[in-house]
Parts: sequence; structure tokens; C-alpha cells
Amino acid sequence: MSQLEILEFPDPRLRTLAQPVTVFDAALKTLVADMFETMYAAPGVGLAATQVDVHQQLLVADMSENSDHPLVLINPRILEKDGEQVYQEGCLSFPGIFADVDRALRIKVAAHDADGGEFVLDVEGPLAVCIQHEMDHLVGKLFVDHLSLLKRTMLLKRMEKKRRQNA
Ligand code: ZN
Repeated sequence: MSQLEILEFPDPRLRTLAQPVTVFDAALKTLVADMFETMYAAPGVGLAATQVDVHQQLLVADMSENSDHPLVLINPRILEKDGEQVYQEGCLSFPGIFADVDRALRIKVAAHDADGGEFVLDVEGPLAVCIQHEMDHLVGKLFVDHLSLLKRTMLLKRMEKKRRQNA
């Protein structure tokens, strides 16, 4: 296993549209293992393939307290969503910044696992936020896109300032 490099905003590759996974082979399993290693090391609770510059519809997540509930969603599709929640989100591609985002409270999502099997997942609360956030990455959308222009400008300035301080 190896850790992958995480693309950071404003890298234009974060805007790439991911393609469906069609081959469920050993290389895919290696990619999944590497993405988990990268996510846990960061540390983070979700990672989309887009963020490691692989433009396939694949995401990993683990919102559990002890990091022992790994979840892989390949070619995820939202079947149903309802309700509303506001949750403070962060993103490994935006180190150090957090913002409240409106999302659906509950989602029903269909996906493939790493062997190509299909499953349906009903989730709500923070895990539903996480999956919606990571699914956005697969279509080139970022969490700051959900914010007002004013809020977004403020946050990005703050991130730029932090980056200069760390440089
Ligand atoms: Zn993200």
C-alpha cells in the first residue's frame, strides 16, 4: 500500500468529471487500499478518487469513532433524498478551512463494491453529508461551491493567508 498525493484547491484537476468504473480488477482493489491509507493518514473521514487525481467514480469514507467502518462506493447513484441538515464540513483539498453547508438529511444510494457487486445504502446524518460531499467531487464540484459568493471569498482568503504563513 502507498499514500497518494492529495490535490489541493485551486488545482484545476479537482474540476474533472469522473468516469464510471467498468473493470473490477486487482488494480482497482489496490487503488481502494491506497485511498484508505491516504484518508486515514491525512487524517480525514472521506476521500474521492478525484482528489488523488484518478478520474473514476469511486469514493471511500469512514465516519466511525474508531476508524473501523470503512465504506467503499463505486459508481454511486442517489436514488432518493429527503430532509435537510446543516453540517460544518471540511475537505482534505482545503486544509484548515471549514464551513456550514446545507445538504439532504437522508439519502438512499446505490453503488458497486470493489468486486463489482451492487448494494443499496440508506444513511442519514453526518455519513449522509460525507457521501454527498464526496459524490460532488466526482462531478468536479467542491463544498465551497455551495456557499454564497461573500462567504466563499472570505474563506478562500483565509486559506490563502494560512498557506502563506506555512510557506
Ligand atoms: Zn472534499
